[in-house]
Parts: sequence; structure tokens; C-alpha cells
Amino acid sequence: MDLKLPPGVVYGEAYEALVGHCKEEGYALPAVNVVGTNSINAVLEAAARNRSDVIIQLSNGGAAFFAGQGLADKQDAMVLGAVSAARHVALLAAHYGICVVLHTDHANRKLLGWIDALISHSAEERRQGRPPLFSSHMLDLSEEDLEDNLKECERVLERLVPLEMSLEIELGVTGGEEDGIGSEYDMADNAKLYTQPEDVLAAYERLNPLGHFSLAASFGNVHGVYKPGNVQLRPEILKASQNLVRRTHGLPSETPLDLVFHGGSGSDGEAISEAIRYGVFKMNIDTDTQFAFAESVGAYVRENEAAFKDQIHPETGQPLKKFYDPRKWLRQGETGIVERITQAFGDLGSKGKSVASS
Ligand SMILES: [Zn+2]
Repeated sequence: MDLKLPPGVVYGEAYEALVGHCKEEGYALPAVNVVGTNSINAVLEAAARNRSDVIIQLSNGGAAFFAGQGLADKQDAMVLGAVSAARHVALLAAHYGICVVLHTDHANRKLLGWIDALISHSAEERRQGRPPLFSSHMLDLSEEDLEDNLKECERVLERLVPLEMSLEIELGVTGGEEDGIGSEYDMADNAKLYTQPEDVLAAYERLNPLGHFSLAASFGNVHGVYKPGNVQLRPEILKASQNLVRRTHGLPSETPLDLVFHGGSGSDGEAISEAIRYGVFKMNIDTDTQFAFAESVGAYVRENEAAFKDQIHPETGQPLKKFYDPRKWLRQGETGIVERITQAFGDLGSKGKSVASS
């Protein structure tokens, strides 16, 4: 499939075409949670180096952090931070020569105000003749009844469609916790951790007529990284959902649903490849890039301990400015993220697959 898109943030038809390209060519894109310009620029750098497109996303906490911890109104902060981050990415993405999907992560009912405010910001952009701020938003009402979940998804998708934006929904519960949103569900075999194909069919029938949506389905995946053996991934659950939708509606595609893999950190290559075969085009990765940043900065601090205590070396009298300059150690963190995402591009098969026209 020969697809070429202008480099930069994609939305609407271009976003759907990119998702289609991933599935036809059998690869997925990492969706990396960012909290500031260091993490955003590291993601762009990694994508450019690997000639892969990429997904950049913000959680509500990440967005608030982007706005700065000094803002008193946390609600304002998570809206303004997301807008600011989106503008930063929109300005730079094209210059890195790759395509970027911009997205917001989990929003439960308490965070609907955040999403609605961001959609209003995108609506204002459109009125001014500009692209929407984000390619898509996520609603995670998976802890609620299916009916309550889908009803809200319909409402939000109806707001997004005229702006050429998409919606990610969640059915079934991703284990673990992400930014204060998550479940107390045990990681033991719990039906809630595995999405039911009948629920997926209901979601398809309600949302597909309205516009584009993607689905975070649970197949035993958890947020965070745990000791091996604690997580039992069952990607065949994804296949069962695809089959039910395909058969019920007589669809030509083997994988009519655009699926999202949450909790990708720490997952093994076999489970990842299988999930991609069953229609996953997006794999979220947060915990591993957080650690990559921290590990790299930590190593630098240990190697240059003196520069983190004194401006002048107490024994040699050497000025230590060039070692404590924040560009030095923040850069180490960025490099750690670049390396970890480079590995993700390999795992997901997206290396060299960018659809951006050069
Ligand atoms: Zn998640």
C-alpha cells in the first residue's frame, strides 16, 4: 500500500489512512506519554532517526505538569498544558519529517470536563480555519455499565466527528494504575480484565455509524511493569472480537476494528506480534520511557556527583558549570528515551515505515 502524507500532525482522513496503513503492512506505532518538551523532543528525535511515524499522548497529569506545577487551578492546568503541548508538537513535527498522531490518554467520568474543554479548543481552531489540536481523544468509562459507557462515547464522538477527530474507547479493564486512573482489580484471572466480544460488537454497532473510533480492548494487559509471571496476556481475545464483528456484519476485512494495546511496557515480542496480527495499530508505552529517562539521568549524576553538590570542585578547584548545566543531564534523559523508543519501533515493526513524504 503506497501511502504518502505530508509530514506533521495527522487528523481526519489522513489519520484513518495512517491507521489503515499500519494494519495492512502489519505494524503498529508506539504511543508515548509525554510530560514536557524534553520527552516530546526525544520522541520526535527517535521517530525521525528510525523513519517511523509515532503517537504522542498526554494523560491529564502529564498535561497539568506541562503547564507547570505553579498554576493554582489544576483543572485549568490540565487544559492549558494539553493545548500548549499540542501547539509545541504541531509546530515541530513537520520539521522532523515524520507523521505524528496527537492523542490524550485515559479520561474517566471525572475527567469529562477536561475532554470537553479540549474539544471546545479544537472547535475554535477549526472556526479559525486551522486543524484540530488533537487527532483523537480517549474516554475510559470501562468501570461503568456498558450502556453508560457507550452513551457517553456516542455523545463525545458526535462532537468530534465534525472537527475531523477520532475517539478511543475502552471496554474491559486494563489492570494496574495509570496516573491515578485504574482499578483495584487483582491481576489474578478476572473476567473484567478480558473484554467480552459481545460488548465489542455492541460498541461497533453504536459508534461505527457515527464516525471513526478505536478500541482499547483488555486481554490481560496491565499498566506498569511487574515481575514475570504475574501477567497472563491472551491476545486471542482480540481475534474473537474481530471475528464476531466481521461475521455478524459480513465485512471483508479480517480485522475491521482498530485496536489499541494499553500497558505495553514490559511486554514480550511474541505477544506484541500476535496482538498486531489481530488488528492492534497502537501500543501505549509510558512506564518504560519514564524509567529510561530516570536511569540515564541517574547514571550521569552518579558519574558527576561533585557537580551536583558544588559549583567548584572542592579538591581540584575546577569549575563544574559544564557538568551541572541542565542541558547536560536533561539531554542524558532524552537519550534514554530515544533508545527505549528505538527498541519499541523494532518490536512493533514500524522502523522505516513512515508514510511522510520527504
Ligand atoms: Zn492505558
